[in-house]
Amino acid sequence: MPEDGIWVATALGGHALVYAAHTATLVGELQTRHDTWPVVTAALGRVATVSAMMAAGLKHADHQITVQVSGDGPIGKILVVANGQGHVRGYAVEPHVELPLNARQKLDVGGAVGTNGYLGVLKDLGLKEPYQGSVPLVSGEIGEDFTYYFAVSEQQPTAVAVGVLVNRDYSVWTAGGVIIQMLPGASEEEVVHVEKAIAELPNVTTLLRDGETPQDIVRRVFGDDVHWLDHKTVRFQCSCNRDRLERVLLSLGREELDSILEEQGEAELVCHFCGDKYHFDAQEIVALRDAATH
Ligand SMILES: [Zn+2]
Repeated sequence: MPEDGIWVATALGGHALVYAAHTATLVGELQTRHDTWPVVTAALGRVATVSAMMAAGLKHADHQITVQVSGDGPIGKILVVANGQGHVRGYAVEPHVELPLNARQKLDVGGAVGTNGYLGVLKDLGLKEPYQGSVPLVSGEIGEDFTYYFAVSEQQPTAVAVGVLVNRDYSVWTAGGVIIQMLPGASEEEVVHVEKAIAELPNVTTLLRDGETPQDIVRRVFGDDVHWLDHKTVRFQCSCNRDRLERVLLSLGREELDSILEEQGEAELVCHFCGDKYHFDAQEIVALRDAATH
């Protein structure tokens, strides 16, 4: 299997900015860490893939974007954080969802996510205030929802194609996507050309499965009129550690820590984003209680 990565390019003589991603290993790790069932793997994997492509445009390693997809479907909520180093983490509130295939005989991502709800993006670019944008969900299929987000919230005509292919044994076969953003100066004809080319593109996952690279897929849209700018690595990486979770316990305060000691005698915290478990024994909780400021 080819390595995960994001390729960044301009096309149409600089009138379009292109991100193309291969994210099979990333989505595979999300699947195994959270034991997601296929339709959740597809939904979470699509959000993670688009988030990774958006993060590839961040200028600094510690800048990060947080994407939240909150619909009324059985998944509940999907949360993904991606930063400028290509580190991605995320989870779905309910990993075990099973639905019949949709009318196109595909995993019913829209049904699992729901259509009533919103897609929210928070960009932390090291400024005082993070940038925040949010739009109502269009179909819950994720690609369309992001297309709508870019158009409305960032006022940038953007085509998004994203997919995850899941094996019978629930593992991930392949995953990837393409984002094409039309830049100022693009003509109406160019916008129409890109929309048409993306609409006519076979499923990204079909192409990746058949051995095409993300770069091949971009060439299907633009031919040789592509100027490659950058290649970025992308991988699953959580930001949790024992210190951080100690601070979480500390913040509970003395009373709460005492009742944990009394009722459980120990504490086990599980990181939502990666599933890692952190165990604190009674002695450690006593030390934290004594150090607590309230
Ligand atoms: Zn973690």
